[in-house]
Amino acid sequence: MDMPGPSTRRTALRLGLLAGVGAVAAACGTKTDDRTVSEAPSSAAPTEPAVTNPTEALERLKAGGERFASGGVRRPDQDTAYRATLAAGQHPFACILSCVDSRVPPEIVFDQGLGDLFVTRTAGQVVDHAVLGSIQYGVAELKIPLLVVVGHEKCGAVKATVEAVEKNSAPSGTDIDSLVTAIKPAVAKAEEEKATDVLDASVRHNVTNIVADLGTKAILSAAVTAGTLKIVGARYDLDTGEVEWL
Ligand SMILES: [Zn+2]
Repeated sequence: MDMPGPSTRRTALRLGLLAGVGAVAAACGTKTDDRTVSEAPSSAAPTEPAVTNPTEALERLKAGGERFASGGVRRPDQDTAYRATLAAGQHPFACILSCVDSRVPPEIVFDQGLGDLFVTRTAGQVVDHAVLGSIQYGVAELKIPLLVVVGHEKCGAVKATVEAVEKNSAPSGTDIDSLVTAIKPAVAKAEEEKATDVLDASVRHNVTNIVADLGTKAILSAAVTAGTLKIVGARYDLDTGEVEWL
């Protein structure tokens, strides 16, 4: 599972890609040091050094989120040479549990590349056995030092739960009910504290509930105690692209 490969292979890949870029640039009548070429990453080595602990992992994720929100994205480690290097093994630095919402793709909103994030996504970040097992695998086998639960503004799954609670709706009889059941405690908390924005308060409580629950689970709780894992919550703002750390 080790990566990246031997430095000789990286160098060969890098030289090979640069040669290809040069040929294309020459054919197009452009210089190899112009903007067009610099927009196409040519290194087979990762853009950033490997993280060694939860704090470094969180800093790296925060930096990527800030780049995305400000419009200064790098879109790192997505070129063909790096993709080939990565086939030898993965060392993602963060587990992300986020919503399925199409507006919140983790690799994009945190400006990360191939092999960086170990992502599970369900509506409202609801955790079932398969999700939990996937996260436990990431922490136990891949030694991932950071787990982030990412909720977001105007989450449809949370909104549906708020409506179900307020209208006291009967279960639909479909599997969607499992989402409502899982998110209900967060809505109950928001209702109880008479939040002015029940939906947004529910989104936040849902994230913190999931973070607290994951912290009690096998493998994860032991890793937190050992200091090899940090579990944090976050809320993504659809309007600004900013991530608020909860
Ligand atoms: Zn959502």
